[in-house]
Amino acid sequence: MWRIAEVALGFIIEQPKVELQLAPRFKMDGLFGLTTFTHGRYLIVINKNDSHVRRRFTLAHEFRHLLDYTAAPTIHKSLGYGNEARQAQQIENICNHFAACLLVPRNWIKRAWANGLQDVSTLAVMFNVSEEAMDRRLRFLGYQVARRLVAAIARDRARGAARG
Ligand SMILES: [Zn+2]
Repeated sequence: MWRIAEVALGFIIEQPKVELQLAPRFKMDGLFGLTTFTHGRYLIVINKNDSHVRRRFTLAHEFRHLLDYTAAPTIHKSLGYGNEARQAQQIENICNHFAACLLVPRNWIKRAWANGLQDVSTLAVMFNVSEEAMDRRLRFLGYQVARRLVAAIARDRARGAARG
């Protein structure tokens, strides 16, 4: 017996000066989403061909870009130690971590786990995130999970090694 624990993201587009647009993949230049400030408002564009869970994650990720938008030159200055590619990756990592925290709050997971909900697939459905995102979040929080995933990866590696 379990309840849906989906974090509602409607508040993001209810912020003043925030507009959300969905764009087809061919217009997204390989991106899940992007955030920019144009015509006096923040514009978040999300790839509409992605799955629902992916679009939710992207919106949460882009929300962090939006929050940091005006302060970015200052708060991102020391990231990457002068290496632009590394700096860009670290910014993405920050936004991904923020999205995971927003979509899968630690105390909600703690409660679900204590109630015996310890299956990655079930928790992913409950929180309306991908299994991959849930798996990563649980590992980050220190839960012992995904033995099946780990076993599958080990099998694939062994197979790859066997092929040489
Ligand atoms: Zn990003």
